[in-house]
Amino acid sequence: MRIVLVGPPGAGKGTQAAFLAKNLSIPHISTGDLFRANISQQTELGKLAKSYMDKGELVPDEVTIAMAKDRMEQPDAENGFLLDGFPRNVKQAEALDEMLKTEGMKLDAVLDLEVPEEEVVKRIAGRRVCRNDSSHVFHVSYKPAKQEGVCDLCGGELYQRDDDSEETVRTRLEVYHTQTEPIIDYYKSQGLVVTIPALGKVEEVTQRAMEALRQKVGDKN
Ligand code: AMP
Repeated sequence: MRIVLVGPPGAGKGTQAAFLAKNLSIPHISTGDLFRANISQQTELGKLAKSYMDKGELVPDEVTIAMAKDRMEQPDAENGFLLDGFPRNVKQAEALDEMLKTEGMKLDAVLDLEVPEEEVVKRIAGRRVCRNDSSHVFHVSYKPAKQEGVCDLCGGELYQRDDDSEETVRTRLEVYHTQTEPIIDYYKSQGLVVTIPALGKVEEVTQRAMEALRQKVGDKN
C-alpha cells in the first residue's frame, strides 16, 4: 500500500504514521525526520535544511525531492510506504506522481488529518519529543512524561523542537495553508483523499484511520 499522510503541523502525523505503518507493515518515511537525522549528523544537507526549518519555511524542492526519492528507492519500500510530510506542495506532488509512474506504480490513498487551528497551536506549544525516537511524543499538559524531560518509553531525553516555538509555528501554519493545502485538491481530483477528524485519543484516531483506509482501498479492489 502506498499512502500519503497530510495535515497541519501538530495534527499528530508523526504519531499516527508510526502506528499505521506498523499495522500495515510498511515503512514510515518522514522527510522531517530525514532532515533532522542529517542535522544531527552535521551533513551539508542538514546544514542547508536547518536554515529553512528554523524559520518554519520549506526546504527547497530540489533537495527535498532527491532525498525522498532516494529513501523510497530503498528495498524496504519496494512494496509500499507511508509518506509523512512529503509531498508538501503541488510541485512535490507532481514529482512524486512522475516518480511512481516511471516505476508503473501509483498511490492508493491520501489520508487527511483534520484538526481545528486553536487545537494545533496548543498541541505544538506543549509538545516534547524524544531525541532517540521522534515517534515518542509527549505533551506538558495532555500527556506529561512520568519524569519531566525523560521519555517514558526508552529513557531518552525529551526536548522541544527548535521549530516548535510560537513564532515559527505561525509561519509553519501559514506555509501549510498556502503551499500544502492545495495538494489536497490536487489529490481530490485523483479521487484519493480520505479525511478523518484527528481529535480524541491516539488509539481512536488510529482506528478511524485504519477503517477509512480499509474502505478506500477496498473500494478500488
Ligand atoms: P515535520 O517534521 O514534517 O513537521 O517537518 C519539519 C520541517 O522540515 C518543516 O517545517 C520543513 O522546514 C522541513 N520539511 C519537512 N518535509 C518537507 C518537505 N516535504 N518539503 C520541504 N520542507 C520539508
